[in-house]
Amino acid sequence: MSLRTRFAPSPTGPLHLGHAYSAMLAHDMARAENGDFLLRIEDIDQTRARAEWEEMIYDDLHWLGLSWEEPAMRQSDRAVAYRDALQTLWHEKSLLYPCTCTRRDIEAAMSAPQDGTPVHGPDGLVYPGTCREKTNRLKKFPKNTALRLDMSSALSKPEYSFTETGTPAQGIVRFTAREVFQGIGDIVLSRKDYLGSYHLSVVLDDAAQGITHVVRGEDLFEATKIHVVLQVLLGLPTPIYHHHKLIRDDDGKRLAKRDDARAIQKYRADGATPADIRRMVGL
Ligand code: GLU
Repeated sequence: MSLRTRFAPSPTGPLHLGHAYSAMLAHDMARAENGDFLLRIEDIDQTRARAEWEEMIYDDLHWLGLSWEEPAMRQSDRAVAYRDALQTLWHEKSLLYPCTCTRRDIEAAMSAPQDGTPVHGPDGLVYPGTCREKTNRLKKFPKNTALRLDMSSALSKPEYSFTETGTPAQGIVRFTAREVFQGIGDIVLSRKDYLGSYHLSVVLDDAAQGITHVVRGEDLFEATKIHVVLQVLLGLPTPIYHHHKLIRDDDGKRLAKRDDARAIQKYRADGATPADIRRMVGL
């Protein structure tokens, strides 16, 4: 099977050096193996995504000399796929429940003495389960409410694994169901204001695009455990993961979307060439 990888930016700000590194690394890997490089616009959160940022992504990637097979996939076109998966998890598997807790409610529940020390996982605070017991699972698929995964019921085996070829831990990465239950918990799989969540969409989209190798920043290494659990649950293949170093600013802090000083547009305006950008990120 030939290598298929992707670059999956969210159009919520300008592309910066870190994005360029990720995209060029994935593109180089695909070209070296005679494989495919695909693009996916992760605009699921329509309150933050903007058409101008999306245009700038295409423009910057072309300027960097990157080209992609197939038209870019856009998450805003994928609501039906997200709804189908959510309905399967709701109706056939009874693994979802509606959650009305705000961040504040969760923090308040966590500070109750009997709940012990709050645990921060790759998806934020581990949810204390307040809404889990409240619902009748047979009810109609709910609208305009957040849906959480009942993680303890979703974990179908004692141990999970994936193959990592990047920086944090090369080889087979194994993790236990217990670790996921205690350190990640009942994650949100659909948001109140839009269908799906990052974790749900990323596994469905990688499978739909036939991705064999996921190349992305090492800040998502821990979240991969969520993705593997979801792939097993939804009967989707688990790709090989290649998490890469993050490009940091001069103070060693990671670059943020708002870090306009490192925006590719800024380097372009200052007369940098694509080769300069490659050198700057160490490619
Ligand atoms: N859209 C995510 C980001 O811009 C990337 C997600 C992924 O590569 O899995 O950080």
